[in-house]
Amino acid sequence: MEKKDIDWGNLGFGYMKTDYRYVSNFKNGAWDEGALITDATVSISECACVLQYAQTVFEGMKAYTTEDGRIVTFRPDLNAERMENSARRLQMPVFPKERFVDAVVQTVKANTNVVPPYGSGATLYIRPYMFGTNPVIGVKPADEYQFRVFTTPVGPYFKGGVKPLTIRVCDYDRAAPRGTGHIKAGLNYAMSLYAIVDAHNQGFDENMYLDSATRTKVEETGGANFLFVTKDGKVVTPKSSTILPSITRRSLLHVAKEYLGLEVEEREVFFDEVKDFAEAGLCGTAAVISPVGKIVDHGKEICLPSGMTQMGPVTQKLYDTLTGIQMGRLEAPEGWLKVIE
Ligand SMILES: *Cc1c(COP(=O)(O)O)cnc(C)c1O
Repeated sequence: MEKKDIDWGNLGFGYMKTDYRYVSNFKNGAWDEGALITDATVSISECACVLQYAQTVFEGMKAYTTEDGRIVTFRPDLNAERMENSARRLQMPVFPKERFVDAVVQTVKANTNVVPPYGSGATLYIRPYMFGTNPVIGVKPADEYQFRVFTTPVGPYFKGGVKPLTIRVCDYDRAAPRGTGHIKAGLNYAMSLYAIVDAHNQGFDENMYLDSATRTKVEETGGANFLFVTKDGKVVTPKSSTILPSITRRSLLHVAKEYLGLEVEEREVFFDEVKDFAEAGLCGTAAVISPVGKIVDHGKEICLPSGMTQMGPVTQKLYDTLTGIQMGRLEAPEGWLKVIE
């Protein structure tokens, strides 16, 4: 398919309407067969459960062109499983895993004119999501739902080079014990908006959230998990029931162990330990890893030895290896790349 005339290298991270999106509706206890459509507008009741009570969950993933010209997605089965868990927690029907992967494949295939070429640094961002559509005013789950997938091309994350982030310890909490921090739900983002706008106004790139029960342990930021590297080269990531299980983070731990031979630890990480780490990074689909250069705790600065101009050496190796796997330059573990065409 002929590519659309887009300046791939200068795309930002924003929404651009593409030609096709996938829609399936749930009614009378069953999903319909689903279809690709061209209408980018959603039309629902003014009293839809999603509008009144935020009954909605989502996923985020990417399609890329590999070095040898294949279009692939990365571990879409894990996105499907995570969305099943998110849906269950918000009392929504599950969109079956095989159908989820098929919907993603169909949507990317229909929009190959906007899958950025290899080497451009740009990717096709894929957004599956689901929401309660019928009128609900007394608090209860909806009976009818819509599952959709749209795509939008996004630019290289590190445009103009890597700039390590300055983040702050946040006074607001992201997730309560036994709450919804471990699912990918819009509600977790709605309540983070105040804190992120405030952080930006104070000159910080992101918020570091601590566990809300004791405020002594590192959790994550609003949309990415932490990886730390100790001075003796161990990769450490916080373990908590209230962080969102990042697929990027899980993949990076595998890469650290199996490709780079590093020791990895998934465990509670106390904020007091952070000053002793050599490197820190944020992991998620958007950037793979963005290095953190400085962490500010109410005026007290922790400057990571990796500095403010580049990724630390271990972070860089992790980044290069995982992006190498995603772009088809390095052999991927069995089942990690789903070839679309
Ligand atoms: C989506 C998300 C992440 C990153 O997950 P990936 O699967 O790696 O993209 C991390 N934290 C939160 C809160 C998220 O919503």
